[in-house]
Amino acid sequence: MKWNELSERVLKGRPLTYDEALAVMQSSDDDILAVLDAAFTIRRHYFGRGVSLHVIRNAKSGLCTENCSFCSQSAVSHSAIPEYPMQSVDQILAGARDAQRSAAVRYCIVTSGRTPSEKDMETICHSVRCIKREMPIQICTSLGLLSEEQAVRLKQAGVDRYNHNLESSERFYSYLCATHDYLDRVATARIAKSAGLELCSGGIIGMGEDIKDRVNLALALRELDVDSIPLNFLDPRPGTPMEKLIKLTPVDCLRSLAMFRFVNPGREIRIAGGREVCIGSMQALSLYAANSMFTVGYLTTPGQGYQADTDMIAQAGFTVTEIIE
Ligand code: SF4
Repeated sequence: MKWNELSERVLKGRPLTYDEALAVMQSSDDDILAVLDAAFTIRRHYFGRGVSLHVIRNAKSGLCTENCSFCSQSAVSHSAIPEYPMQSVDQILAGARDAQRSAAVRYCIVTSGRTPSEKDMETICHSVRCIKREMPIQICTSLGLLSEEQAVRLKQAGVDRYNHNLESSERFYSYLCATHDYLDRVATARIAKSAGLELCSGGIIGMGEDIKDRVNLALALRELDVDSIPLNFLDPRPGTPMEKLIKLTPVDCLRSLAMFRFVNPGREIRIAGGREVCIGSMQALSLYAANSMFTVGYLTTPGQGYQADTDMIAQAGFTVTEIIE
């Protein structure tokens, strides 16, 4: 396969086929620089060398009733993580101020749980109104399964984007969780979109899925017309059912990122949890496919830190995207 010819065809508007996406996933380790170079042609066309920084806040941690097997906050996890109920409006607002100081374009407020309670909704909506009055930062919320009414309330409060990951392919999702299913997740993604919220949806790779599952996830996200795709790399957490899984190799992560870029050429693709652990010293290469990253850590695990992230971006010749007021 001539990877640059493939990226030229994508840039001319011809969507990648299933077989072509699979060919990317089947490419050899020796081909990784050529694959990334072709993915970079697409990334540069849409986003130049910009990298948008996102800061995530775990506004309610642990104690979840759901049994997602990858998650250290689930009902079946014995991970030693902080557990606390919904934070106050003041705490969430303080997190937004920190995010703004980190040059983040977006502040992502996340809560554990199947779906937000009425009290959670009131706290989130009030917090978002306060943040929007004070600063121009974009706001994403990730609160679990949503009703139409809840999605409309979030939009009215000023939420810009809703995150709800599909996590993996429809086939593989049934192995991941028994308390809700893939179609529940698709339904919430659609509800968020119909309420006028931008849709952020991605997944986790390295959970034991095969490469066809990864291709099917990338295609499902294209079908949903998502605006933003966070791609996590499983960092098997002690105390979860996945604790003994073998970590992905850096090249496997990079190849998957490239495939997501080929399939979703103009969409924001974000390197998310597990990038430091799984991609390690090759992380800077991920910016040739991804145009966005979480900085200052994840929900229950720390990242490499803001300074290391911004140094990496600058040293690799990329620039932090600024907030446009
Ligand atoms: S619903 Fe969310 S917080 Fe709860 S177990 Fe699943 S991924 Fe974790």
